[in-house]
Amino acid sequence: MRNASKHEPISKGTTVMESVPFVYCLKSSFRRQLCDFCLKANSNLRKCCGCMVVSYCGRVCQREGWKDHKIECKNLLKVKPNTPTDSVRLMARLILKLQRGGDMEAEHITAIWSRKFKDLLSHRKEIKEDVKRMEYFLTICGVLNEYLSDEILPNAVELLGIYGRMCINSFNILNGEMQAIGTGIYLAPSVIDHSCSPNAVATFDGFKLRIRVTQDLPKLDWSFIYISYIDLMNSKNHRKKELKERYYFDCNCPRCGSDEIDCYHYAARCPSCRNPITVRRGDKFPPCSCGSRLDSSFSKQFWSAADFSEQQLLLMQDTNYLDVCKLCLTKQEDLFHDLCLIRSKVLDAAFDSAVQLQLWESAIQYGLPLIHAYKLWYGNEHPLTAILLLKIFKIMLLVSPNDDSAALKYYQEAAKIIELTHGKGSMFYQQDVKSLIRDVK
Ligand SMILES: [Zn+2]
Ligand SMILES: [Zn+2]
Ligand SMILES: [Zn+2]
Ligand SMILES: [Zn+2]
Repeated sequence: MRNASKHEPISKGTTVMESVPFVYCLKSSFRRQLCDFCLKANSNLRKCCGCMVVSYCGRVCQREGWKDHKIECKNLLKVKPNTPTDSVRLMARLILKLQRGGDMEAEHITAIWSRKFKDLLSHRKEIKEDVKRMEYFLTICGVLNEYLSDEILPNAVELLGIYGRMCINSFNILNGEMQAIGTGIYLAPSVIDHSCSPNAVATFDGFKLRIRVTQDLPKLDWSFIYISYIDLMNSKNHRKKELKERYYFDCNCPRCGSDEIDCYHYAARCPSCRNPITVRRGDKFPPCSCGSRLDSSFSKQFWSAADFSEQQLLLMQDTNYLDVCKLCLTKQEDLFHDLCLIRSKVLDAAFDSAVQLQLWESAIQYGLPLIHAYKLWYGNEHPLTAILLLKIFKIMLLVSPNDDSAALKYYQEAAKIIELTHGKGSMFYQQDVKSLIRDVK
């Protein structure tokens, strides 16, 4: 944690908080690739001989993980061949930890301000009125009764408090590519509020969370440091709904209060000057700043393509949807500006799909216009923008291995962002980013 005086200005790229989780769990889908304790990738994982469910890098990690796994190990074995879901496992870890002195554990935010688990918001009232969450709570309780049958479970009121705190305060633990590999409860970082235009970012080295500021700040004041809780490549209404449903608050951040970015939800491309012409659903297109006017046939085609793309985006699953994306993009051609949210989302899906299918030329074709869209929707200094740039760099090298001059500028831009968001000392920068450039030269 930063020791500097809270009255000093803070420059962007400063780590303002570091935290280890109160409890955490690896996502079960990563069990074969990542160590259950340190969450790092290892091709030679060894299974715990007790439960044969979780795996570790080796003895050191197994020993370190044992205090949280000891009772769990026995329970995992007991319920075999069933395995508890990730939420049940996390909740069980919470219950066991709280019963064994964890309720007294505190993490400091400043020298005189600290948080215990009970200080986290439980939103008991909202959870009780939330049909879906209550249903899930009852399911979890049913499973816990069996899974923790040797323990004395807290009473229903306490259980609901634990569940509420878990729902509201969990962090997705992300790997370098910003994929969620686990879930953790972090006591001190849970004081940080949300903004759709954040000035700080949470990144991870294994289970260690680091908060770094991405803007210069006049002083360290926790009520003015914000991270984003949600995916920012979404419309204002979508974000507000998600925040209300998942965290029970109405977002009043500067971005939700303005239309500067969200006006690009629907944006046409002017046929004359190719600049964006933004429009709200139901409104007529305003004239372009160049003087051009869009006629009614343009408008008709635009909204028909928008409707079609929105429907398809809802239907897209993890299957091969590249053909659907192509169809959307064809309908959008000559009508949509690349910054338009609907187009960005389709390009994003097309890029991912092309990468999965190893269609490198197509991936570049979809990825390049996506860079501007990421910078608009996520921000210039967002880890996801950096990851996209890195992917484009890697793909360009695959496509033309003998000419890295074009690719390098994407690498350099990505590295600069990662220096800011993760830091040069981070595992991701040291192991994944720096090594890429060694391969080039
Ligand atoms: Zn390990
Ligand atoms: Zn075990
Ligand atoms: Zn907002
Ligand atoms: Zn124009």
